[in-house]
Amino acid sequence: MIITFYGVRGSTAAPGPQTAKYGGNTSCVHIELESGNDLVLDAGTGIRLLGKQLAKKSTPTNILLSHGHWDHIQGYPFFEPIYQPDRVINVYVHLESGRQLLDKLFQQMDGTRFPVKAEDLPSNHISKFKGIEKELHESEGINVVKQALNHPGGGVAYKIEENGATCAYVTDNELDPPYALSTNYDEWVNYLHGVDVLIHDAQYTEDDLPHKHGWGHSLISQVRQLASDAEVGTLVMFHHDPDRSDAELDEVQIENEKYLKSHRAPARSVCAAEGMRIQLSKPLLGGDTLIEIN
Ligand SMILES: [Zn+2]
Ligand SMILES: [Zn+2]
Repeated sequence: MIITFYGVRGSTAAPGPQTAKYGGNTSCVHIELESGNDLVLDAGTGIRLLGKQLAKKSTPTNILLSHGHWDHIQGYPFFEPIYQPDRVINVYVHLESGRQLLDKLFQQMDGTRFPVKAEDLPSNHISKFKGIEKELHESEGINVVKQALNHPGGGVAYKIEENGATCAYVTDNELDPPYALSTNYDEWVNYLHGVDVLIHDAQYTEDDLPHKHGWGHSLISQVRQLASDAEVGTLVMFHHDPDRSDAELDEVQIENEKYLKSHRAPARSVCAAEGMRIQLSKPLLGGDTLIEIN
């Protein structure tokens, strides 16, 4: 699989000279499967550019939503394939509240908040709330395992495995929240154990707390610890705070490298940046997954 980042920012888009290096668009990650088919993780403002690429294809597009917060759905009206006649778009939400979440996705296109109404779109939307794992296994030959996020309003993480290579997408997750846990730390370690690539919410520094405790995001330091305890291959820090400048993220990267020197895992740790591409492949004869980042 090839993972490409189109939006890496959390909470709200943050364009400008201070964020030009890592990017200002909100959450959207593209996974190109070995079949050439596509998975799209979340529909933040980054999905606009991705849509221009996917509009060149005619295969069904599979969109997996983590949850319905604004920064994860607001790019959807600008996603070019929704304007293509009969283009099949499967929208998956693996939440109890999946139907309400999908309503939110389309309610933003009600004629008052956006000029084009969802009901007038010529594409063929197929919304799915249940049985995601079975359906994607049958249609795409991948294994998807979900896990409940610790986040106000709820949400879901996805672990995707294709031919032995694994990527986990865990955004908007608070590892140590003041509210009732959906998944405790040990459960996260088990769920993520040995994944090749972990994309995890790393929005806050210690300076952002305590007043943002309970807002649904993790400390950078906690995420490094989790990646180490779960022995992941590559940690990708994601959902950067809109106020985190490029210079500050460069500092985080320096701290990452220091951390790696004294820990066995993760083997590599990077701050997600728009345009970053990670290619994952499992050697046919077994052995470690090959990971190339550029
Ligand atoms: Zn978010
Ligand atoms: Zn959220």
